Amino acid sequence: MAIDTLPPLRDVIAAHGLRARKELGQNFLLDLNLTSRVARTAGSLDDVTVIEVGPGPGGLTRALLAEGARKVIAIERDARTLPALAEISAAYPGRLEVIEGDALEIEFAALAEGRVRIVANLPYNVGTELLTRWLSLEPWPSFFESLTLMFQREVAQRIVARPGDDAYGRLGVLCGWRTEARIAFNVGREAFTPPPKVTSSVVHLVPRADANGVAARDVEAVTRAAFGQRRKMVRQSLKSLGLDLPALLAAAGLEGNERAEELGVDRFLQLAAERQRQRNGARD
Ligand code: SAM
Repeated sequence: MAIDTLPPLRDVIAAHGLRARKELGQNFLLDLNLTSRVARTAGSLDDVTVIEVGPGPGGLTRALLAEGARKVIAIERDARTLPALAEISAAYPGRLEVIEGDALEIEFAALAEGRVRIVANLPYNVGTELLTRWLSLEPWPSFFESLTLMFQREVAQRIVARPGDDAYGRLGVLCGWRTEARIAFNVGREAFTPPPKVTSSVVHLVPRADANGVAARDVEAVTRAAFGQRRKMVRQSLKSLGLDLPALLAAAGLEGNERAEELGVDRFLQLAAERQRQRNGARD
């Protein structure tokens, strides 16, 4: 069943000559039932402004609008897509704002007031960087209610990884600290035009209200040091922090012979809090 009265995406792409560009991570979803499923994963969009990165020819944008988003603010780097997006704007008057630009240059928190959700089929070359930035914002919780994002499956697995999983690393600690993250569903290569090399997954992340008290920069520093040498014992890998190592280990209740890949999020938060304390020159 058609979700709107606009032409099929294949026709939109042909009419506007939107041949996919690899350097922009352009793998388009042409099935509006599938993009509607992504949009529904974000929950009810009534009264919500959705920020979308990389609308391309607009398959997900149309689904978000058809699912009832109050407004969609879409950031797209490829100027060739603007005429196609203008047609969507005309079909949904006042509800689609397109910003031509690089998402890495945008100050997202300043884009919208009120309830905001981020929903995107992210370009693979900037996806992890954007997620890391959104989850490192202070103060926390930040300006968005949730993130519903398509990634390569390998990245999705890193997002939801737990200690002991092969995919567990810095991204898993950050996501586990600041959000409840789950893989909603996988999307096969064949759903995209052109098909990417690997399977994709839609991940839904909801901010944890209590993920504050420790600064993101300290969490970043301790996880970078620990996972920089993930198979080494932490008494070795954490040396690069240049801190009082015995105090650091004691603060997290560590012997020193543990490895980063075994440590839960709480341990990293204890390490981060101790780094912050030592950074501030605090003494008990
Ligand atoms: N949303 C569309 C869909 O689902 O079919 C397109 C998704 S495609 C994977 C990624 C989109 O992000 C492309 O339209 C690409 O031009 C755009 N893009 C790539 N790099 C970008 C950047 N730095 N800032 C904003 N958009 C970008």
